Amino acid sequence: MSSTPTCMDEHDPTALTVEQAIERIDALVRPVSGHERVALRDGLDRVLFEEIRAPFDVPPHRNAAMDGYAVKGAELPTSAPKAFKVVGESFAGHPFNGSVSTDECVRIMTGAVVAHGTDTVIMQEHVQRDGETILVEPGHTPGQNVRQAGEDLRTGQIVLSPGRRLNAADIGLLASLGLAEIDVFRQPVVAFFSTGDELKGIGQTLGVGEIYDSNRYTLYAMLRRLNVEIIDMGVIPDEPEAVKSAFREAARVADLVITSGGVSVGEADYVTETLNDLGSVDFWKIAMKPGRPLAFGTVGEALFFGLPGNPVSVMATFTLFARVALLKLMGAHATPPLRLRAVCESKLSKRAGRKDFQRGILSQNPEGKLTVHTTGLQGSHVLSSMSKANCFIVIPLESGDVEAGTDVEVIPFEGIL
Ligand code: AMP
Ligand code: MG
Repeated sequence: MSSTPTCMDEHDPTALTVEQAIERIDALVRPVSGHERVALRDGLDRVLFEEIRAPFDVPPHRNAAMDGYAVKGAELPTSAPKAFKVVGESFAGHPFNGSVSTDECVRIMTGAVVAHGTDTVIMQEHVQRDGETILVEPGHTPGQNVRQAGEDLRTGQIVLSPGRRLNAADIGLLASLGLAEIDVFRQPVVAFFSTGDELKGIGQTLGVGEIYDSNRYTLYAMLRRLNVEIIDMGVIPDEPEAVKSAFREAARVADLVITSGGVSVGEADYVTETLNDLGSVDFWKIAMKPGRPLAFGTVGEALFFGLPGNPVSVMATFTLFARVALLKLMGAHATPPLRLRAVCESKLSKRAGRKDFQRGILSQNPEGKLTVHTTGLQGSHVLSSMSKANCFIVIPLESGDVEAGTDVEVIPFEGIL
């Protein structure tokens, strides 16, 4: 059946869905080989190479969860108040080494070792102290306010697995195990450059028709967030020899090469030629907005992403494709971004046949309900829309316009950008 092309002609049969593109990328990417030992503090945002097991129980000793008095649970009063004699003190780092006999107790502070012969801690606010004696009311439970040894982690238990991207909690956790150094994947090296005769560097004066190169800065910032090694190769003019040598140099020094602008679509023959000389690159149309043309493959030994030129497209395709690939290259386990449902308060224009990543402002009312509204103009050149937004509003391929009041999916930028 043939049909007349219309403005609805977005169902390009040669276009890949976002999901297909992600699958194809995933099939080609392998974690970098090579790992190194780093000081624990330098481990933040690095990817763990080794498996970490607890070398001892955490906590290492039974200890008090409250400031108070340690007693034997079996001796707690059940009907009438009862007196205990205070025979010693156990402070954090200074345990009580004596013995505790019938109707005796030990003054104890949070984190201090629960002395032999005791198993229960009564909060100091719940006793009346008179000299060396405390008076305890009925109503306490044997074993209360005591943290057992190994309650958090048992000796030999797996604490963190290879592929874990270390966060602040992990760094603290590893410190609690007494580990001064850890084995992490080496950082991938990412080289990137922009192409375009209209692009000027910051500090240069703009002539008519010229713009500042913002993509390299967006990319730099997004790469910084991932804690990889960055090589900024600058702006490369639209000249065959310049582009060729830039690719050669980038592929020589980097694990991943990223470009933005013309080369992504391979619009000039020499670009396609150069890329196929140096490696193997596919030029994809992706059924998404923004950012449909994307080149992906290998250049020399390096992986290659040719992102579109438009600034919003660069951010969207980097986030959806390059970032995911890079995390895998870094050795990290896949952790899909958080996706939430929110009520869309704006009417959104949308054409069926491509998946939209529109820019939204997500907020939460005092009752906790999530709502989202559009940032306004959605052109892929409107970089301020990304800056205003705190989430992508994800509208499925088959959907048309979205009426105000509809439930939509959002991907918060938090932790991504
Ligand atoms: P291209 O893919 O080279 O045709 O570029 C598409 C659009 O993105 C054009 O308007 C370019 O001027 C713009 N563009 C390309 N590269 C950059 C860049 N590095 N910074 C800002 N805008 C760019
Ligand atoms: Mg261009």
